[in-house]
Parts: sequence; structure tokens; C-alpha cells
Amino acid sequence: STLQEWRQFNKTSVYMSDLESALHYSLRVELSGHISISGNDLTALKKYINVLAKYFPGRPSVKSALKTVDSWLQQQKGTEIKYSNFRDVLDNTVQTSDAVLPEGVQWVGCQGSQSHYRGYPCAFWTLFHVLTVQAKEMAIPGTFNMHSEVLQAMRGYVSSFFGCRPCATHFESMAQESMDHVTTLSAAVLWLWSRHNRVNNRLAGDLSEDPHFPKIQWPSPELCPSCHGLKKTGEHHWDQGEVLTFLRNYFSSTHILMDYLQ
Ligand code: FAD
Repeated sequence: STLQEWRQFNKTSVYMSDLESALHYSLRVELSGHISISGNDLTALKKYINVLAKYFPGRPSVKSALKTVDSWLQQQKGTEIKYSNFRDVLDNTVQTSDAVLPEGVQWVGCQGSQSHYRGYPCAFWTLFHVLTVQAKEMAIPGTFNMHSEVLQAMRGYVSSFFGCRPCATHFESMAQESMDHVTTLSAAVLWLWSRHNRVNNRLAGDLSEDPHFPKIQWPSPELCPSCHGLKKTGEHHWDQGEVLTFLRNYFSSTHILMDYLQ
């Protein structure tokens, strides 16, 4: 582990720098391991980019880059693309210079106490919590919404490209078990929250756990008192309505902090 400068941050906020870093890492590091992309992988990539283009609550230049890549991908009617061509579009060799995704990673809320902790997996979770919430916020009442498109995009990306293969296997088994039962945009927000807590539960005390960021059933009672309740039997109980309100606020585009952006 290398020593690096510690960036002061608020432990209970979402940072745009983490979200942009997750985009950089997924699109320029993880994907670059694939010289050509075809079949299910290509479908997964198209869905991932499409939900990013629709729901990523980013800076105008970043949104513009995502939209450019999305329309390019939609025009690709063949069964295969070359990663190098995808990369040229992303990096904007086409010279529409207002569209740009910054290079490199700068973890802020997802910093680890040592460099092998946290970072990308943390920011990837955060990205998808933000996207499920954003899909809910942007929905037009009374119109048809693909309630699980964000979750399906996550499922496809993880299955085809997520570098941590045990993570992908675990996530796919949770998806197979219950992702199809999600029938509203709110249920999608809650599904991701509850599955993330299952992962936290499994990993609590594991070697991968950053001692400065213990795995807890989240949000803690300090962070959201009204989320927690007790059943008559004395057992802990989540108030899902309160949890939903909390998540919609915590991951809201209006609360994302813009510090440390490149
Ligand atoms: P993370 O769990 O990454 O969480 C990031 C931040 O999200 C937290 O700091 C907190 O602010 C917030 N948060 C925490 N819980 C919730 C919640 N329930 N809902 C909403 N927000 C929350 N690692 C393994 O070792 N084995 C695995 O099988 C595994 N599977 C994974 C599957 C997926 C799909 C992903 C994305 C990651 C997986 N990981 C796995 C990595 C692991 O879950 C953590 O991301 C990693 O250990 C870093 O942990 P962290 O402390 O940064 O917190």
C-alpha cells in the first residue's frame, strides 16, 4: 500500500468525484481488458451506457460524453464492436470538445485508509444507488417506466465486466433469486439497498474490510433514527417507508458534493 494524501471529506455525503472516477474506471480500465465486445457482453454494455446517458446526474460535459457514446453504440448494428473504437468515441477523437469524461481516479468519500481498500467497488455501489434514485425522481407520473432497467443494467455490467469475479457470482445469485420481483421504481431503490446490506453482512469482519470503515447494516441509527424500529417481539425492524425517504434524500442529485473534481 502506498501513502497518499488524505482528502478531508464528510462521511455522510456522496461525492461527484467518486462517481466520475467510477465511470473512468469501468469504461477505461475494466472494459479495456476486452479487445472486442460481442453477444451478451455487448448487450450489457449498451444497457449500462444507456442508463448512464439517461440518469447520470453529472456535469454537462460528462453527460454530453455519455450521450455521445450512447448514440454511437445504438448505431452499431453489428454483432461485435472493437474496444478501441468505443474508446475513441469516449475520448472524443471526433472533436466535439464540450464532451469529456475526466481521466484518472480521485476517490473522496470512497477513499480507503490504505490504497487496497475501498475505491472502485465502493464508488460502483454508490453510482448505482444514485442511478436507482435518479430513475425514480425523473419518472413522469402516469407514464410507463421500465422499473428495473437500472438494476438490469447493473446486473449485466457486473456479470460481463466487473473485475471481482466472486462478487459477480454472488450478485448474480441474488439477482436470480428476486430481481424479477421488482415492479416499481421505489422497489428498485429498496432492492439495491437491501442486497447491499446482505453483502455488508456477509463481509463484516472479512479481511477485505477497511478497519476505518466497518461493514454495518446501513444506515446506522445515528444517520437515520426513524429507519429503525422494534417489533413487538423485540426484534429489529426496518421501516421501509422511512428508508425509502432517507435513500431518496441521501442519494439525491441535489446533495452530491462537487469538491475535489478534476
Ligand atoms: P461499500 O459496501 O462499498 O459501500 C459504499 C458506501 O455505500 C458506504 O460507505 C456507505 O456510505 C454506503 N452504503 C453502505 N451500505 C449501504 C446500503 N445497504 N445501501 C446504500 N448505501 C450503502 N466484496 C467481497 O469481498 N465479496 C463479495 O462477494 C463482494 N460482492 C460485491 C458485489 C458488488 C455488486 C459490488 C459492487 C461489490 C462487492 N464487493 C464484494 C465489494 C464490497 O461490497 C465493498 O464494495 C468493498 O469491500 C468496499 O467497502 P466499503 O467499506 O467502501 O463500503
